Amino acid sequence: MTCAVCSRQAKGLGWFNPRLKRSDPARYSDRWVFCSMACQNAFSQIMNKTEGNMINTTEMENEAIVSCLMPLGDYVGTIGLQRPLADFSRQEVLTLIEVVVTAFQARMLAEHERVACRDRAFLEQRLARQQQWPSTGRTA
Ligand SMILES: [Zn+2]
Repeated sequence: MTCAVCSRQAKGLGWFNPRLKRSDPARYSDRWVFCSMACQNAFSQIMNKTEGNMINTTEMENEAIVSCLMPLGDYVGTIGLQRPLADFSRQEVLTLIEVVVTAFQARMLAEHERVACRDRAFLEQRLARQQQWPSTGRTA
């Protein structure tokens, strides 16, 4: 099983949709597993914000893939840009994969955290406004 946020190895952290009845099979998904509390929290905040409807992950994943281009190019540059892939050693190929996967995971996690942070800031602003102008009929 891989983490639903960053695709690292999942470690027994799950999630369920508390808006749905216990008898509803859509309450649970075996895809909602996470590698860490950070990923679980980021996912949970997005699911709460979207009321159980996950955001468009395809767009986010596409951006994460594009974000791998730079580190991929940097690494290939260090081991020889002109060499054919067939000439790469096993270790060079493994490092290449690691560079790409790490860049992808980092971008996915950063994006999920950015969205969660933006939503938190929005909610805090609304809360602050409510405290500033309590519902006494007074206007700004
Ligand atoms: Zn994760």
